[in-house]
Amino acid sequence: MSLLETVKQFFTRLFGLNDIAVDLKPLSNELRTFLSQNVSFYAALNETEKSVFEQRAGMFLQTTQIIGHDVEVTEQDKLLVASAAIMLVWRFPDWYYVNLHTVSLVSGSFNEHSQFGQPDSGIQGMVGTGAMRGQMILSKPALHYGFSNDRDKKNVALHEFSHLLDTVDGGLDGFPERLSDNVYSVPWLDLVRKEIDKIHRKQSNIRDYGGTNPMEFFAVATEYFFERPSMLCRKHPEVYETLKSFYRQDVAPLQNRLNPEKKRLAHVAVANAISDVVTLAVIPSLIV
Ligand SMILES: [Zn+2]
Repeated sequence: MSLLETVKQFFTRLFGLNDIAVDLKPLSNELRTFLSQNVSFYAALNETEKSVFEQRAGMFLQTTQIIGHDVEVTEQDKLLVASAAIMLVWRFPDWYYVNLHTVSLVSGSFNEHSQFGQPDSGIQGMVGTGAMRGQMILSKPALHYGFSNDRDKKNVALHEFSHLLDTVDGGLDGFPERLSDNVYSVPWLDLVRKEIDKIHRKQSNIRDYGGTNPMEFFAVATEYFFERPSMLCRKHPEVYETLKSFYRQDVAPLQNRLNPEKKRLAHVAVANAISDVVTLAVIPSLIV
């Protein structure tokens, strides 16, 4: 059975729909090139896997609105959002983001009052809870920067999608129950507490925001896992092994298949690094 048929059957079961419109057009060569040059994960896949990735990204975009708040939304923007969504659940072929229906792109970082250009406008992305459940907001420049720079262990889209994985079971606790076949919550949360303590004592190279709480640790460690897997494996082997179990992926060998051109572009991006400090503000109904 083709992937498309499998997905159609899944939606039929989920929604009781017999005639769901699934109209997936193949990606143009231009968009394939864009993906190869911007999404290292995709670039490292073989041709068959790339085809599956494109179909799953297409299905994601069939079921998720990507809208611009104060920016134009391009096909490239949509593909980056879909790429983050698919990368995390690459080994979960039937995964459907039941807790997401809309991703809004905005023109820059913002503060908890949705204001741009203020001294505290440091938020690049967030997912809604409660009344705002099902919504994600991403800064469009931060979305692109997250993929253009593979070296800084930061990717706002991966960060926000990992929150969705954490919250899909209802618990906002840094332990993604739905991914946890071979992982138990107590040892993981004990490890997280130790790692957070190391961050607070400045004895960790996991960035400070991961020390906010276990939920943010999971999101920040996820960014690190997908951007610098070999380094995470070397510096924080227990964290790497547990994330490998959660995501059912060993990303380090995949990274080694990365094409040299993408690595060169990543280095250029580091040289042009922008400041993107994320505030620690706690916002009702929103997770940053
Ligand atoms: Zn967060």
